Amino acid sequence: MSIHPYHKELQVATLAIKRASLLTKQLSDSIQELQTVGTITKNDKSPVTLGDFASQAIINYAIKLNFPSDEIVGEEDSKDLQTNSKLSSQILELIEDIQKETKDYDSVLGSLKTVDQIYKSIDFGDSSGGSHGRFWALDPIDGTKGFLRGDQFAVCLALIEDGQVVLGVIGCPNLNEVIISNTEQKGTKGGLYSAIKGVGSYYSHLFEPGFIELNKQRRLKMSENVKPVDLKVVEGVEKGHSSHDTQSKIKSQLGFNPNTVSQQTINLDSQVKYCVLANGNADLYLRLPINEQYSEKIWDHAAGNILVTESGGKVSDITGNELNFGNGRLLESKGVIASNREIFDKVIDAIKQVT
Ligand code: AMP
Ligand code: MG
Repeated sequence: MSIHPYHKELQVATLAIKRASLLTKQLSDSIQELQTVGTITKNDKSPVTLGDFASQAIINYAIKLNFPSDEIVGEEDSKDLQTNSKLSSQILELIEDIQKETKDYDSVLGSLKTVDQIYKSIDFGDSSGGSHGRFWALDPIDGTKGFLRGDQFAVCLALIEDGQVVLGVIGCPNLNEVIISNTEQKGTKGGLYSAIKGVGSYYSHLFEPGFIELNKQRRLKMSENVKPVDLKVVEGVEKGHSSHDTQSKIKSQLGFNPNTVSQQTINLDSQVKYCVLANGNADLYLRLPINEQYSEKIWDHAAGNILVTESGGKVSDITGNELNFGNGRLLESKGVIASNREIFDKVIDAIKQVT
């Protein structure tokens, strides 16, 4: 493969995601331990707060260092952090530790040395996005509920040009290489999923150090299943984020057998759902809105969107229209559907019938 477009962007995004994923993975692994010894309670959100800020600081810093004129739409801002000096110094300590552990990446990612640099770096994420020019969309920890359960979460970064996603990288620290059902999975834990417009989508091990060229990674391809008996569906875990009731109706409209539909449904937090689809382990992602008020955030879907489309799948809102990433920080449309090309029209039709 000759050098592909966005090579430098992919290298920076990959190393930044790897550094942030190592940090967040260590935090997520420590949660159960801390709960067992009583240092934190089940409802304590402090590990995810630490991880969110640290991850966004690391990734934004690397982007600005390498691409000074790029803007960033990031989920977090430093307003609350600036009034909490204890939390700020904890974050600096975490970042310093991970920078030491991944010293080799400093030549590309740089290194953060002060809390002021951390605040500034987090606040690079204040872009309002839009349909012109180039910006990055970052979710420093997607799936915070999964993170706190010690379950699935993802570090998600996308590059958007003139409203089109052109690159996506997703680090999935707790995702096995093969997902079969809610209770069965195989292969290495920790996946890195990358996609570039017109180049394709690829898998490699998240915890293998360094940047691996795409031609040394495994190419991804969506499934081509069509028969209801062969289909697997990915959905969120949280019933407050999508309507599991409407999703059930859609599956029955599509002809799923009521006795096997639960074994064919895989519940996962965060954008790992898109990764499982791209990997060919599922055929359909249903995210039906629970109300008319909620607007989806672009950082929750941009990287996943290009991952699925570059794997040969389709992504849309509930009416079958493509998602518009040039609308600002929010998507204007409702819900998200992603599937292999073969069943897409049928799925949109089924949604029309039941909603
Ligand atoms: P998931 O892990 O698929 O449940 O999605 C996690 C994301 O859902 C979070 O990053 C939130 O931004 C987003 N979210 C929060 N509230 C809602 C809601 N009411 N509807 C849809 N998504 C939501
Ligand atoms: Mg999110």
